Amino acid sequence: MKIAKKIFETARSENRSFVLENEAKEIMRAYGIPVPPFDTATTADEAVEKSKEIGFPVVLKILSKDILHKSDAGGVKVNLRTEDEVREAFQTIMENARKYGEEHGIDVDLSRGVFVSKFADEGTEVIIGVTRDPQFGHAIMFGLGGIFVEVLKDVTFRLIPLTESDAREMIREIKAAKILDGIRGQPPRDTDALVKVILAVSKMVEENPEIRELDCNPTFVYEKGNGALVVDARILIDV
Ligand code: ADP
Ligand code: MG
Repeated sequence: MKIAKKIFETARSENRSFVLENEAKEIMRAYGIPVPPFDTATTADEAVEKSKEIGFPVVLKILSKDILHKSDAGGVKVNLRTEDEVREAFQTIMENARKYGEEHGIDVDLSRGVFVSKFADEGTEVIIGVTRDPQFGHAIMFGLGGIFVEVLKDVTFRLIPLTESDAREMIREIKAAKILDGIRGQPPRDTDALVKVILAVSKMVEENPEIRELDCNPTFVYEKGNGALVVDARILIDV
């Protein structure tokens, strides 16, 4: 896909080893991966304007080539419901990012401002990741978010490219698979939408082997029929 190549080229020309969230989400959208509506803003006023266009509630996140893990830098503010909250969040995020730079001895580039996006309804959290092995090539990882992946390591892998039945098997074979079926009276989750996201990620990586690592963490999966949304996207590339 042309848009992906163009974005990766720009990143490389600026000596960046990862693409910014707006770039990652643009690429994903081009591959048919559902993401919440988003835009970018470099001033508080602009952040307010973009929030109004997108519709409240929104989230603001730092957009900087020097910050890969945005929360660690105090760079994420969620569920902002008013213009004042957006204005304040913008100032706080910029201030936090500047302090983070000071503490880590880096001159953080703040010129890109923030990523503004619709605050997504809570869904079942899953993670889709991609790593690249020098011998085996790209592999895709799937698991449920939070403690399932971090503590229980309840994840599964397949080599890319994968087929639809591979994707279906992946979401069946984790230990916590039942959670997606809906436990304790909860309705089943939209596993068809999830399969589509996994296959689209596989296609995206297959067509762009310069992707070194990728993380859709978290991805929210909703009730059957209501789809899935990738709410954070990180893409690392060869420089
Ligand atoms: P990072 O992983 O770089 O710290 P994220 O983009 O994952 O940053 O944001 C941190 C957390 O904020 C996410 O794990 C998620 O819980 C929440 N979040 C981020 N974006 C959204 C969104 N659009 N809608 C709802 N929650 C979000
Ligand atoms: Mg994240």
